Amino acid sequence: MSQDLLDYDGALAIVLEHARPRPSRRLPLLDALGRTLAEPVTSQCDLPAFDNSAVDGYAIRLQDLDHTTFIVGREQRAGQPLVGSWLPGVALRVFTGAALPPETGAVAMQEDVELGQGRANLAEPLSLGLHVRRKGEELRCGAEISPSGRRLSPAVAAAAAASGNVEVAVAGQLQLGIVVTGSELVEPGRPLPPGGIYESNGTGLAAATLAMGLGEPLVARVPEDLTATAEAIRALAEHCDVVIATGGVSVGDHDHTHAAFGEAGFERVFWGVRMKPGKPVAFYRRGDQVAFGLPGNPLSTMVCWCVFVRPFVRKALGLPEDVWLEATAQEAIRHRPDRLEFVPVASEGDGVRPFAARGSHMLGGLVAANAMARIEAGRGDVSPGETVRAARLEWFDG
Ligand code: AMP
Ligand code: MG
Repeated sequence: MSQDLLDYDGALAIVLEHARPRPSRRLPLLDALGRTLAEPVTSQCDLPAFDNSAVDGYAIRLQDLDHTTFIVGREQRAGQPLVGSWLPGVALRVFTGAALPPETGAVAMQEDVELGQGRANLAEPLSLGLHVRRKGEELRCGAEISPSGRRLSPAVAAAAAASGNVEVAVAGQLQLGIVVTGSELVEPGRPLPPGGIYESNGTGLAAATLAMGLGEPLVARVPEDLTATAEAIRALAEHCDVVIATGGVSVGDHDHTHAAFGEAGFERVFWGVRMKPGKPVAFYRRGDQVAFGLPGNPLSTMVCWCVFVRPFVRKALGLPEDVWLEATAQEAIRHRPDRLEFVPVASEGDGVRPFAARGSHMLGGLVAANAMARIEAGRGDVSPGETVRAARLEWFDG
């Protein structure tokens, strides 16, 4: 690692310069669920497409609105076209969703009507427009249902279908590849040998990938070995836009990640950022492809995902940047001024609270956190009542 570490904002700017928007494609609504909309979704028809009844009941002509007794006329059900004429003094028997003739003034709810001798009787006259859904009252044909740059939610999918859309334009997918390095790592489910630990970064990074709505990442697990690591990187790079290595990125004798990326044809863009956790983080490129070398400590890996990989992916997909808001520390936060620090916190209102366990090897704080605070370099311990910046941890919200 070079002695002159980059500052975090400079490093992030370099990463983001490499994030080019993905070409868009059209997908059927369900296939597009969770994907980022590349174009606004617009209505293909007026909604409602025609005047219709909001209730089961009796439709009253505009000219008869001051009447309270009607002859019960023909039936009009949902899905039936309008037929025939409508004589004065007649109430049409209608059901929810049934088309209403243009002469309709209001619909009486079935529960408010008393029937007797072929007549429908009301306690009082109806007000104009009661229980009538007017054509286009919700959306005009061509109106926007959702802007671009948002992930397609179930609600937008339903609204898109309701207005006649079959497919939507979404940002092209990014394929991620994950290389997990470490000879001490054991697959969960197997007994732990002495000195072994369960491999968790592969699961954490793959889960973060899926939670963002990306496709299944390719994952390779290799021991601390230069050739094996370089081979894994090369193989993943055949199919991936982004390769993420975890572990082996520091300065130990068995840290082969840099050399391995070099052997696989990647050029190092930076290595080392004045931040905690995640100081040894590295960034590489090869043509249009990029790669991240993330430190192996579990918290470091996940924090680096949040503050480097996630912003890269969001930009490439056309999603807006995460928002960092001012927040008030409700408890003291220990901090050394020589580097920026990311601290998982509990956020409530505009207050944030750190967790006791803050070691780079500990995931407990991140598990409990709903936000991430950034404590700037240049300042010391944060006292209660002082301001820091924090962003919500939105694993599932792209
Ligand atoms: P490294 O960055 O390879 O030096 O690893 C730093 C620390 O993180 C060591 O204690 C490793 O055992 C641990 N570590 C590395 N990779 C993983 C992983 N995939 N899952 C869990 N712990 C890891
Ligand atoms: Mg290692």
